[in-house]
Amino acid sequence: MKKELQVRAIKDGTVIDHIPTELLFKVIDLLDLEHITSSVTIGNNYSSNRLGKKAIIKIENKFFEDDEVNKIALIVPNVKLNIIKDYQVVDKKVVSVPKKVVGFVKCMNPKCITNHEEIVTRFDVANAEDIDLKCVYCEKITDYQNIEIKK
Ligand code: ZN
Repeated sequence: MKKELQVRAIKDGTVIDHIPTELLFKVIDLLDLEHITSSVTIGNNYSSNRLGKKAIIKIENKFFEDDEVNKIALIVPNVKLNIIKDYQVVDKKVVSVPKKVVGFVKCMNPKCITNHEEIVTRFDVANAEDIDLKCVYCEKITDYQNIEIKK
């Protein structure tokens, strides 16, 4: 009953569910929700059987493209997206880690050229399970713990 209430509130849009609470702010950052024009509802510390505590983000009138969905997968590999139309969940998207990551992650190598010149960062996902990103320019690995979203 309570769960239903958490998800029901929007008419059309996307609900990102099962976000571990410690990753909530990273997801907000990643999706640039600060600057989005749709109305956004963020709930934190809901109880979850699987995670203990979880966060939920509801975004009205927003339907993510696959590449945006894959961005989310980098930060929260098992997150679920519920697509809402006319108050009903019409689709559930399961995210998958992309093979390449272009432009939105910072290379953790301070000497990397991408940190010194205006160059779009490019990574190959070297390990999709642990989420290790290998920089195309300097070949250093930026691991999951060090993924920093570029502004
Ligand atoms: Zn690099």
